[in-house]
Amino acid sequence: MATSYGSPLTSKLVDRGTLDACVKQIPVKIGSHPYNVVVGAGLLRRVGRELRRLMPAQGSRVFVVTSSTVRRHWGHALEESLALAKLSTCWLEMNDGEPAKRLATIEQLAEQLVRAGADRKSLLVAFGGGVVGDCGGFLASVFMRGIPVVQVPTTLIAQADAAIGGKTGVNLSVGKNLLGTFHQPKAVLVDPRILETLDEREFRSGLFEALRCGVIRDRELFDFMTVHAREILARDRRSLERLIVACVRVKAAVVAADEREAGLRRILNFGHTIGHALEAATGYAQLLHGEAVALGMLAATAIAQNAGFCGPRTAARIVQGITEYQPPAKARVQHGEVSAYLGSDKKNVNGKVHWVLPVRLGRVTVSSEVPDEAVRSAIREVCC
Ligand code: NAD
Repeated sequence: MATSYGSPLTSKLVDRGTLDACVKQIPVKIGSHPYNVVVGAGLLRRVGRELRRLMPAQGSRVFVVTSSTVRRHWGHALEESLALAKLSTCWLEMNDGEPAKRLATIEQLAEQLVRAGADRKSLLVAFGGGVVGDCGGFLASVFMRGIPVVQVPTTLIAQADAAIGGKTGVNLSVGKNLLGTFHQPKAVLVDPRILETLDEREFRSGLFEALRCGVIRDRELFDFMTVHAREILARDRRSLERLIVACVRVKAAVVAADEREAGLRRILNFGHTIGHALEAATGYAQLLHGEAVALGMLAATAIAQNAGFCGPRTAARIVQGITEYQPPAKARVQHGEVSAYLGSDKKNVNGKVHWVLPVRLGRVTVSSEVPDEAVRSAIREVCC
């Protein structure tokens, strides 16, 4: 079975007008819960003002969930902005990194919320990378049966991807993201300047997720990233903003068309099937998420070429684009262990892996009809 995807993007980019000329607003048109992703350098200083407009009721309080690292770098700027908007605020800290994405973290945060006087009219702000975003979103979705959340993402992965689309969740010891909900944020506020303090490896890891958006749905973005790799790696402000806005547009269009991953949303998983298996087989300790996705995209491209879904020129361009951003050479793990994890991926349907495979740049297909040998050989290529 194969389903092809590559229709033109429909989400509209709106300039906020002369007052906020450098702020871009991308609508996420999800039927019952539409919201905006606002992107702009320096936006952190205006978060308080944005939250004021979104507050559920007079007198509601703001609870900021963050990590000590993010708070150390950017907490002061956010605190100032919230104080200027005269918002009553309480800060809650959690660890970040994958090991913190567990139910125990949610329970601890929920108890702190109660002790600090949170109620159903409270607003939660998830201020951090993908881990804080996934945990903050999950907490908001279950606390007192659901309170609103605003995402203020601070890593490239979170700004370009994780904060948008309402997927929340935590890991179990037997697998990643196995407990979770769909809980759309009230808004996503993205300040690319926050990325200045991000460690080089984390930053690069986010760039692989951005390349993924190019391959699945935006050839222009992919071309831009291959031509301007030097500026992007130097974190040139304009290049980064352009890249983030393009990724947000891809994600917004896909999740608006398919909020609950019944069809189209599966294309976002390009590189994730083998990527997740690599992360799990290496105990989540060897590869960052985006690095695993980079190796997963290389493997999926090899599968697509071996199985005749894409030609050698397309495959070579994708490989070249990924290589430009220096992915890890290989994962240090036996290929058999990776194959074993493929069988337990929660995205399998009736026990079959559904592969997202490139057809040409900007267009992918989803297929379960892939020869086992093509899969085995692709996995061997990304493992030592
Ligand atoms: P992360 O949240 O652990 O952050 C990575 C590291 O960066 C942490 O050490 C953190 O302290 C640090 N950090 C964050 N912001 C910083 C800043 N501005 N300056 C300096 N350091 C900073 O990891 P991540 O890569 O952001 O996110 C990965 C997670 O996102 C995974 O759990 C993945 O499953 C999830 N994810 C979710 C979705 C979704 O749709 N919900 C999509 C993609 C990924």
